Amino acid sequence: MTWPPLRDELRGVEPYGAPQLDVPVQLNVNENPYGPSAACIADIATAVAEASASLNRYPDREFTELRTGLAAYLNTDGGNDLTADQVWAANGSNEVMLQLLQAFGGPGRVAVSFAPTYSMYPEYARDSMTGWIAGRRREDFSFDLDHARDLLAEHRPSVVLLPSPNNPTGTALPHDVIGTLATLCAEHDGVLVIDEAYAEFRRSGTPSALELLGEHRNLVVTRTMSKAFALAGARLGYLAASTELCDALRVVRLPYHLSAVTQATASAALRHAPELLGNVALLREERDRTVAWLREQGHQVADSDANFALFGTFADRHAVWQGLLDRGVLIRETGPEGWLRVSIGTPEEMSAFRGALTATLEAAPPTETMANEERA
Ligand SMILES: *Cc1c(COP(=O)(O)O)cnc(C)c1O
Repeated sequence: MTWPPLRDELRGVEPYGAPQLDVPVQLNVNENPYGPSAACIADIATAVAEASASLNRYPDREFTELRTGLAAYLNTDGGNDLTADQVWAANGSNEVMLQLLQAFGGPGRVAVSFAPTYSMYPEYARDSMTGWIAGRRREDFSFDLDHARDLLAEHRPSVVLLPSPNNPTGTALPHDVIGTLATLCAEHDGVLVIDEAYAEFRRSGTPSALELLGEHRNLVVTRTMSKAFALAGARLGYLAASTELCDALRVVRLPYHLSAVTQATASAALRHAPELLGNVALLREERDRTVAWLREQGHQVADSDANFALFGTFADRHAVWQGLLDRGVLIRETGPEGWLRVSIGTPEEMSAFRGALTATLEAAPPTETMANEERA
């Protein structure tokens, strides 16, 4: 036996995570580049100080104040009269989704997503001992409902996980796809999870799956404070679903999983929602400018409803990634072979990105874009 005595499927596995490198321009994990204002920082500090007075006690296990605040916020962005008992939260939406698989997946059950998709999903499946099946998207990253119908009929998944907007492509799902998938999942008592980590960045006219919650009791919509809310460091993710589904999650959550400090921080940040979200409009404009610029340079770019752009394709994408890093710009080597993903930062950061990419490609022309026919 090798030591330590890991489960077989965990042996030799690298822990998940993008490189955390100390470089001037960090555009690799889709963070919001704008930090909280002085007023928000002061309010969080006061709230945390108040919570600290009773840190000898366990926190509110039901985090009612926070759930009430989250429900009120969701009702301003697609939710229809959601109440606190239709909202659940944990330490990041990653934990929320792991809890979903702990509750609704498990041995003998299967979870499904459609690639390219978020690379953490198979890890939740592995960690909850749920079977994992990845279908595919079309070549242009749009959703192939016929393929999905066949796959769901064959595997009858307990959970289907789909990001919308998708990571790493930025593609949002239309309502009719979500509605049809929810109905197909319901046929075998499956739960459909729409991961809206990037929902606040969606282009106008792109709907939120929250609007469909009243029609499908097996629909779950997850959100996070890590991206648009500029609160990645606080670790707060949440979901909206029926009261029965939220109640079911209480069975698998650890006791007092949300610390009093986290609850106080998130509730205070929610009171500053308009200001924290105020930079979303800037980021969307910067995204659209970045996509347009990349296309002008002759690159392929996936349409994006998120705060990143997936572009390519490069015969040697690692060389391009390294070239950018050598020039102080960290992006992400992810997505299908040949593609790279850049998060949207401030105008200054994006200017640095454009300069670094231009210089990299001029310095090493052989890494220029692959011809389209080579990708097929
Ligand atoms: C960033 C991201 C999340 C958010 O994770 P947190 O744990 O809430 O920080 C969830 N889903 C996707 C697809 C993401 O890219």
